[in-house]
Amino acid sequence: MEVINQIKETIHNIAPNNAEITKIEMEGPEIAIYTKNPKAFFENDNLVSKLSHELKKMMNIRTDKSLLMDKDEALEKIKEIIPVDAGIKDITFNECFSEAVIEALKPGLVIGKGGETSKRIILETGWTPNIVRAPTQESEILTGLRHHLNKYSKERKEILKQVAERIYRDANKQAEWVRIGALGGFQEVGRSCMLVETPQTKVLLDCGLNVSNATKDSYPFLETLHFPLSELDAVIISHAHMDHCGFLPYLFKMGYKGPVYSTLPTRDLMTLMQFDFIDVLTKEGRDAPYSERDVKEMLKYCIPRDYRKVTDIAPDMRLTLHNAAHILGSASVHLHIGEGDHNLVYSGDIKYGFVRLFDNIDLNYPRLETLIIESTYGGKSDYQPNREIAEKQLFDIVKQTIDQGGNVLIPVFAVGRGQEIMLVIENFFKTGLMKPKCYVDGMTNEASAVHTAYPEYLREKVKRRILQNDSPFISEIFKNAKNLDRKQILEDGGSVIIASSGMLTGGSSYYYFKELAEDPKNTLIFVGFQAQGTTGRKIQEGIKELPITDSHGRTKALKINMRIETVDGFSGHSDILQLLSYLKRINPKPKRVLVNHGEKSKAIAFSQYISQKMKIPSTAMRNLDMVRLK
Ligand SMILES: [Zn+2]
Ligand SMILES: [Zn+2]
Repeated sequence: MEVINQIKETIHNIAPNNAEITKIEMEGPEIAIYTKNPKAFFENDNLVSKLSHELKKMMNIRTDKSLLMDKDEALEKIKEIIPVDAGIKDITFNECFSEAVIEALKPGLVIGKGGETSKRIILETGWTPNIVRAPTQESEILTGLRHHLNKYSKERKEILKQVAERIYRDANKQAEWVRIGALGGFQEVGRSCMLVETPQTKVLLDCGLNVSNATKDSYPFLETLHFPLSELDAVIISHAHMDHCGFLPYLFKMGYKGPVYSTLPTRDLMTLMQFDFIDVLTKEGRDAPYSERDVKEMLKYCIPRDYRKVTDIAPDMRLTLHNAAHILGSASVHLHIGEGDHNLVYSGDIKYGFVRLFDNIDLNYPRLETLIIESTYGGKSDYQPNREIAEKQLFDIVKQTIDQGGNVLIPVFAVGRGQEIMLVIENFFKTGLMKPKCYVDGMTNEASAVHTAYPEYLREKVKRRILQNDSPFISEIFKNAKNLDRKQILEDGGSVIIASSGMLTGGSSYYYFKELAEDPKNTLIFVGFQAQGTTGRKIQEGIKELPITDSHGRTKALKINMRIETVDGFSGHSDILQLLSYLKRINPKPKRVLVNHGEKSKAIAFSQYISQKMKIPSTAMRNLDMVRLK
């Protein structure tokens, strides 16, 4: 543990004598300093920044346990210090980390100008404030998850310590070779997973499953990992769609006990998706590959990282997450391998182009040799109309249907498209040209609530609205269908129904589809990608009859008479032109491009174009291929 000892020595050398440090602990990639004199750190701001600058790590200053104020007394004191406007929802104490977890509607007011208020809390009570934002609408998942993490904080602390021991173990910092193994999601969409390996380190990028195909070819080829899971250093999750995170709990079921890195919203949203996945399968009488217990176990090992924060994850590997503008918290992954030996960017799912919800995608990297890029719309003619045209087209179809008394069903991914489409429909209302009834069903409501807890991950305009208590997701236009009579909604007619799942693979959208399909007055509008093999894809391709099971368990043929439309242009994925623009603008220019996340013909066509026209060597890897990068 030479590195850890060096870190401790550096801290002791820099800190003044009156710092009264009683303990220095590694908390995963971060450092916690326990002190009997927090004043020494907080009255001298430079000390904390000097330490983080010198060690290139995040520092957490905590008060020695002997100086923590009694909890009841501290609670009163904290309430006294924080202005009422902050909208405190909850305060809990976490002894393991000497932390007061403060959940507030306006965290900025708990921090105070220049951090004054939070400094006062630690100096006057001893407890370090850990400030989290309360969602502006009730969220079962956030409440449950935050409670769970608090309950297991002792165990989490031990986990973080072990993670640190592995990150900073005595090992070669250079990587003599680097290679990448394709375990899933190559020449296909679904079950994204790959292994990045050096002589001393093994890391998985994404661990997804194919939801459209729950029996065959659903899971990544983990059985080809010929090493015990204890040798796996880390798993990095790009974003919370099931094709990227859906198989992660299975790793924990199999005994993986290592860290999972992602952004904070990704941690929360993927938990929501995984719980929902188990729920949907169970209701359909099918077995899920893992249980809720495995998801809860996974949560203890999650280490959230912000965009653009560099983090050591192995002796020879540094991770940085960047904005991918695809869904809330979605990231492109940058790995700095060895001492400058190789730099890898995995794009994840990306949107290059305007969206209402997120800032533009990150294009600048410190260094870049290999780029792994998605190719969902990588085919030669995969153009998408621009947003203006798409919104006009959607408007027209909705208006025509409503005017003749029909219902509109828009199946969406609960995370991403759901919120984007809500913003668009809200805009329709504002024009005054139509006023349909609008119902939101399925997991979309819960996912929207999570968005309101992370406004800093949203585009400025949406962020401002949430902060000013004008969240577009709780606009009076939208009614939560959860507690309403679904049959009545349909009978009334003239409604727009936004429901998940996005590809009609189950859930509430599938229910509505079955009810609406036979009446030609109704319209089904696809606004997102429909994967091969899904019910959505079959309908999109024009089948007129679908075998379904009725409530008595009998199979019958459902006639599809409703109007079927696809409106392109709302996708969270880049179309071919946007993918090419991304490749031209990404800086620096990669020396090699590997293509994943696209059907076979698209991945191959895209890769050929990159090699021939852009003159960058490129391969559309197949599952189970291995490529040596260095
Ligand atoms: Zn995605
Ligand atoms: Zn994906």
